[in-house]
Amino acid sequence: MSFAQRTRHLRPEGAYQVLARAQALEASGQKIIHLEIGQPDFETFANIRQAGIDAINAGYTRYTPPAGMDALRQAIAADAGHRRGINIRPDQVVVSPGAKPNLFFPVLALVEPGDEVIYPDPGFPTYAAMIGVAGGIPVPVPLSEANRFSFDLQAFNQRVNDRTRLIILNSPSNPTGGVIPVSDLEQIASAAQRHHCWILSDEIYARLVYDQLSVPSIAALPGMLERTIIVDGFSKTYAMTGWRLGFGIMPTELAEVVQLLLTHSVGCTAQFVQIAGIEALTGPQEQVNQVLHEYQRRRDVIVDGLNSIPGVTCQRPQGAFYVFPNISSFGYTSTELAELLLDRAGVAVLPGSAFGDKGEGYLRLVYSNSLENIEQALERIRQVLREL
Ligand code: PLP
Repeated sequence: MSFAQRTRHLRPEGAYQVLARAQALEASGQKIIHLEIGQPDFETFANIRQAGIDAINAGYTRYTPPAGMDALRQAIAADAGHRRGINIRPDQVVVSPGAKPNLFFPVLALVEPGDEVIYPDPGFPTYAAMIGVAGGIPVPVPLSEANRFSFDLQAFNQRVNDRTRLIILNSPSNPTGGVIPVSDLEQIASAAQRHHCWILSDEIYARLVYDQLSVPSIAALPGMLERTIIVDGFSKTYAMTGWRLGFGIMPTELAEVVQLLLTHSVGCTAQFVQIAGIEALTGPQEQVNQVLHEYQRRRDVIVDGLNSIPGVTCQRPQGAFYVFPNISSFGYTSTELAELLLDRAGVAVLPGSAFGDKGEGYLRLVYSNSLENIEQALERIRQVLREL
């Protein structure tokens, strides 16, 4: 069978492939520790669950306007604006089922075939996928370990030019947990202004930040709100991955086009899910802080544990729930090593190469798992690597 050119570069996400292999091993009786799938291990907070159930029982099971219910758009504009120190109007907010449509549709709305799009390598695999579907030319920029996985600015400056239509940023980052410091954002912002490019700033991990750090949004820099799409959502902050609720914030004219793409694809986001989202934003926030505190404890255990294994070096990330240890000293590809750890240690992790060429030599481990499991996984990894 032959399929349209625009789909030929698409591949499954690495996490789902590893999960399938891990589940096959589990079916044969092995105990696997799952450090491959990037989602919180906590339940959706009780007040949010209840708001969703109440909304279904009250009959909120109908279509809503494609860009979302007014009350949710208002709540998002107020909360997201306050957290970033910017003024956002509700008509700049587009609600979507998960954050992903707000990555995909702005790219479809902005990128013509042949336009160049800069994105992070290693980076979330959806970026390269959607650039390809839009017919854009993917231009990866390395994240450098030496620079705590911020953009390699020298490489960025060599790649940005008048053909660049869009620059994709992700801070804190999947898969590295790295954060882009404000001084780097300023340089990226001035290049975007010089070359008249758009910025797509994926801030889905903006609330998962450690060490009392504040992660700035490029949209808050002078003159940047009018050329930036902020993408954020409820999946990671409120442990709502399966509810599918996210949003984009962008100039109104672009929001109208993205709304049309939503209209003619998904239609709208489930009404009761949007009502649960209002509760998430306007209800108590203590649990977000408690979870954050717990993640930070786990981060420190996993980073210290990995660094104590001979041959492994691991940066201490400032955000998200991923670590990205350097395993290049073992002489295996990251795929070989990930397979070996799954087969011999019963620990499921992702090869760094699943996130781009520059991810080779690294593994991605998710620490949204219990401390007990993390400690056990570290012990098993240590034993297997010692025998290599
Ligand atoms: N952006 C990044 C960097 C992610 O890691 C993810 C999910 O893993 C998403 C976006 C998608 O979020 P959602 O599940 O809300 O669509």
